[in-house]
Amino acid sequence: MDNCVFCRIISGDIPSLRVYEDEECIAALDINPASPGHALIIPKVHKKDLTELDVPEIAHYFAAARLIGERQMEKLGADGFNVVQNNGPAAGQTVLHFHIHVIPRYAGGPQIAAWKQTEPDPGFLREIAERLTSEA
Ligand code: AMP
Ligand code: ZN
Repeated sequence: MDNCVFCRIISGDIPSLRVYEDEECIAALDINPASPGHALIIPKVHKKDLTELDVPEIAHYFAAARLIGERQMEKLGADGFNVVQNNGPAAGQTVLHFHIHVIPRYAGGPQIAAWKQTEPDPGFLREIAERLTSEA
């Protein structure tokens, strides 16, 4: 897709710092990293988000994410890593071409992703569980 920044990275129209490549995907450094080494797993095919992927694709891309996370620890001295994957603008997805963030974390480094924990009443939690498991 001509107007997709990640398709243009894949085709080479837009430069990127590739740190991994195989037949199905690349990993490239994020242009605005949350921490040193923040990489994106980007499929070579254009699919908008996780809902459009089949299970073998999901397995392949997340295996690539694991590999990059392991390299961040081994070669950059990261102490851990976050795997973050946004689906839809409401979830913070800004590039509508599926991708996985692999964000190295360094002990004592800044907090990166956090949500405010809530304390709903048990009835509300049960209602949500029923809705998620109902056949209708
Ligand atoms: P998301 O908010 O999950 O859609 O993440 C999109 C990510 O793509 C952001 O972290 C951007 O910094 C990153 N990004 C956008 N354009 C480029 C680019 N040309 N090269 C590398 N990363 C990019
Ligand atoms: Zn694309």
